[in-house]
Amino acid sequence: MRDPVDVLVVGGGIHGLSSALHLARRGARVVLLEKDRVARHASGVNFGGIRRLMRDEAEVPLALEAIERWHHVADLLGAPCGFVANGQLVIAEAEADFERLKRRAARMRSLGWTHEQLIEGDDLFELVPAAARHCRGGLHAPGDGSINPFVAATAFRRAVEAAGATIHEGVTVEAIARHGDHWQATTAGEIFRARHLVNAGGAWAGRLAASIGEPVPVEVISPMLTVTTPRPAFLGPVVLGVTRRCSIRQAPNGTVLVGGAYQGRPDLATGLARVDHRNLKTNAQAVLGLFPSMRDAAIVRTWSGIEARTSDDLPILGPSETEPDLVHAFGFSAHGFALGPVTGEIVADLVVDGTTRHPIRPFRIGRFTLTDADEIVARIRF
Ligand SMILES: Cc1cc2nc3c(=O)[nH]c(=O)nc-3n(C[C@H](O)[C@H](O)[C@H](O)COP(=O)(O)OP(=O)(O)OC[C@H]3O[C@@H](n4cnc5c(N)ncnc54)[C@H](O)[C@@H]3O)c2cc1C
Repeated sequence: MRDPVDVLVVGGGIHGLSSALHLARRGARVVLLEKDRVARHASGVNFGGIRRLMRDEAEVPLALEAIERWHHVADLLGAPCGFVANGQLVIAEAEADFERLKRRAARMRSLGWTHEQLIEGDDLFELVPAAARHCRGGLHAPGDGSINPFVAATAFRRAVEAAGATIHEGVTVEAIARHGDHWQATTAGEIFRARHLVNAGGAWAGRLAASIGEPVPVEVISPMLTVTTPRPAFLGPVVLGVTRRCSIRQAPNGTVLVGGAYQGRPDLATGLARVDHRNLKTNAQAVLGLFPSMRDAAIVRTWSGIEARTSDDLPILGPSETEPDLVHAFGFSAHGFALGPVTGEIVADLVVDGTTRHPIRPFRIGRFTLTDADEIVARIRF
């Protein structure tokens, strides 16, 4: 049995790393436990889109703060990690979709948010000359951007270690339980103890929550991505479709990354996710509808990652409502990487101060109905 520390963080993805970083910077003795390798799962293999664009209103305040952190990420981590502010754009093809975007733009303005700007006609084609000519218009968020997630997560890892936190890889937390005023995390070899526990276990976090009597409706998803050989520069911003479900970005080396939340087949037990080629074909067709010049692109690699998705597509971020000294940060529903820098601040606030200035009430774990929870308990039996 190890000597107790202040905080145990379960999970070495972006949210566990950011939590550990901010906690250590606030003076806590932190141990992070990762069952595989840091950034082995969603946080190392995702699309790398850093966006405020088209966020649920509940997430916008966090996304606004997060983008500020990404713009100054070298200050946060002590080293740059490749964030590019190339902007993000969602494109409407049909008039009805463009009307939808107009309504969204008006709604966002009415809430005082100005980061999404409506564009149409020549302005659209000036921004994305390669877009299909029938495209009607879009919403553009110029300050949004993209990043190589593995590079960024590794930079977080280095900052965590520099801040004095300890990371153990290849250590699976098999059970958590409270003993007196401490948490115990049981692993194959030893027992780790701490005053506080942070559940940042990604796709596996729902199990930990359920194991201490706090079940939530999270399903395990495995969005897929495709990357092409390098192509001549043709795309500045990251582009998303409104009706065609796709996301596309060109990396600085010319390769084109294509996603769109088309699902592979996840296996939580092995931590592996298989690519589903029929779904990938639909994804490729969606891209061709927006960018016909992609017709001759050659695919070099496809993959799929594992992520936890909640029934309302919002994360679970906040204190446990059944246990003391436990904070949950999971269920980011395939758009959580961008929020990473601010999530850690929130977790550190909750652990150190017991409260946070950030508006996290929409993300409370107790928001789900009993029916949701019952359903999920049935579904995640393992
Ligand atoms: C293909 C794909 C594309 C995506 N694209 C984007 C995007 O463009 N922009 C964006 O913002 N987000 C995107 N996302 C979502 C984003 O990647 C996730 O929301 C985010 O990375 C989740 O981070 P996490 O720390 O919660 O989880 P993870 O990165 O999965 O980390 C959780 C870690 O916990 C560990 N763990 C779990 N249980 C235990 C245990 N019992 N003991 C020890 N360790 C444990 C796991 O091994 C894992 O490493 C995408 C996701 C995928 C899969």
